[in-house]
Amino acid sequence: MYFFDWEILIFTEQFLCMQHIKYFWLAILLVFSACKQKSEGNKGDSQDVAFNTYKEGFINDLWNYYPDWATSIGNHTHDGDLVIPDTLFFEREMMFVLINRDSLQQFDLSKLSDNNKTDYYLIKNHLDYIEFAQKELKTYVWDPGFYNLGSSFSYILAENYDALPKRMASFFQKMGNLEKYYYAAKTNIKNPSPLHTELAIGQIEATYSIFEKDFLDSLKVVTLPETLKQDMRKRALESVKIMKDFVSFLKKQDKSTGRDFRLGKELYDKKFKYEIQSKYTPEQIYDSAVARKAFLHAEMGKLANQLWPKYMGNAPKPTDQLELIRRVIDTLSLQHVAADSFKYAIEQQLPELTAFIKAKDLLYLDPNKPLKVRDEPGYMAGVAGASMSSPGPYEKNGKAYYNVGTLEGWSKADAESYLREYNHYILQILNIHEALPGHYVQLVYSNKAPSIVKSVLQNGTMIEGWAVYSELMMMENGYSNPDPNATTTTPEFWLMYYKWNLRTTCNTILDISVHTKNMSETDALDLLMREAFQQRSEAEGKWHRVQVTNVQLCSYYTGFKEIYDLREAWKAKQGDKYTLKSFNETFLGYGSAPVKYIGELMMK
Ligand code: ZN
Ligand code: ZN
Repeated sequence: MYFFDWEILIFTEQFLCMQHIKYFWLAILLVFSACKQKSEGNKGDSQDVAFNTYKEGFINDLWNYYPDWATSIGNHTHDGDLVIPDTLFFEREMMFVLINRDSLQQFDLSKLSDNNKTDYYLIKNHLDYIEFAQKELKTYVWDPGFYNLGSSFSYILAENYDALPKRMASFFQKMGNLEKYYYAAKTNIKNPSPLHTELAIGQIEATYSIFEKDFLDSLKVVTLPETLKQDMRKRALESVKIMKDFVSFLKKQDKSTGRDFRLGKELYDKKFKYEIQSKYTPEQIYDSAVARKAFLHAEMGKLANQLWPKYMGNAPKPTDQLELIRRVIDTLSLQHVAADSFKYAIEQQLPELTAFIKAKDLLYLDPNKPLKVRDEPGYMAGVAGASMSSPGPYEKNGKAYYNVGTLEGWSKADAESYLREYNHYILQILNIHEALPGHYVQLVYSNKAPSIVKSVLQNGTMIEGWAVYSELMMMENGYSNPDPNATTTTPEFWLMYYKWNLRTTCNTILDISVHTKNMSETDALDLLMREAFQQRSEAEGKWHRVQVTNVQLCSYYTGFKEIYDLREAWKAKQGDKYTLKSFNETFLGYGSAPVKYIGELMMK
């Protein structure tokens, strides 16, 4: 399973490996045979036929280099592989890039279908990203977290996709390369960022138990030859020693010469280009987000003034506008469901959202694809609220779920704080974002034109942008639950929506400021708490996240702005023919491709 929102892991940062040289030659053969097939055809759609063959080969070949990635999206043909990140691998990886670039050049882009055009761009961009990651970004040099194998090992053991003995055999095989793996890691690491080093130490120490407890516990219950069991046990304990040795290597690193955790403008701009794939630069997005923040503050100021007498009576108004807004928001946040009906409230809202989308004719909802709600699975326990799980492209049952958590077991104070954050208003916006017409609806549309390339290399900016755009679209159309008779969104709802939108906007300002403008922790917390009205715990969590990640926090606002701009441009072009429904459906029909390419095709 992989998840939307920030759980969308940046797969490319992980090592996806290639263990046997035979795969390498097989890869070359596959690519060349794809090219050959292409040059033989001469019919109108022959380019598409050849491209379909090529892209399938490309994806299959990708797993030879990046088996952990394959495992994480449900392709289990490479579970036992662990690629050694040594010079030889880097050379092979570059060969993979060069060969595939050459293959792409054999195709006449103008003759491909729209679906294949966007796949072509995604593949080309991914090849550029691999080269950039290896030659310039070099996370494997300065971020020891790169070598945290916890999730790929625990996935094999914990996810019940195959019989336990088979999964344990993969685990056993994978461990076989650990010594060489960490030898290469120690060779690669130079002046690591102290912050990232600290974090990696904690993460790797937390994985020991997967080997010395979980794996050994599984050995007790599985039926396997006794000698093999002994070998497995021995290797698991050796693996822990190897990782402990790596951790002591990390502890010896000189903190005074370590790299800054900030990415720096040059790398940031490039990573933004490959990861976000926007027509805008980070500077343009930054300026746009700063302007959006000013707009939101002005609108919120008007609404808070208007609502003051209704909620605060004759209490004197604070002279500071931001303080005034905060007081009204705090008062509105007291409207929330009770802890024991939190889950029920979320479930109840889904049919209400569906009815609203239909009544306003915002887009077609496939009645054969109702959203499946389930209790939050065990491994997500403690994450209250709601989230979408979408199946990986290879997952057999292939179902998407809306996970809903409960507040059972929470302390009274924690639950109250959480319920105020996800109050009556915000909870509905969360459902709009995650489910209807946000992530879930986008997923249903993208599955109508299935593409393995888009499932694997999906553009997170488009996906998040759609969810954020859909929030505004619902507000524009008068969404104002629970009053079904309301025809326009209430001022209360607008105010709370703006607070939510401010979070997205400030994520972008924060990320660019911290990584390219040297923003301090004090200034960051001031931005989040005073200007974006966040609680201290939320703001501190975000400060942590912005230090250990980069660029991804910009995806929400960038995608939102691009989709909104595209809608306005398309509206002008369509004139009298324009309807909101036609825009939404046409846009979603292109699948999870970068908005700039969808825009080019729509505006053609
Ligand atoms: Zn999202
Ligand atoms: Zn309360």
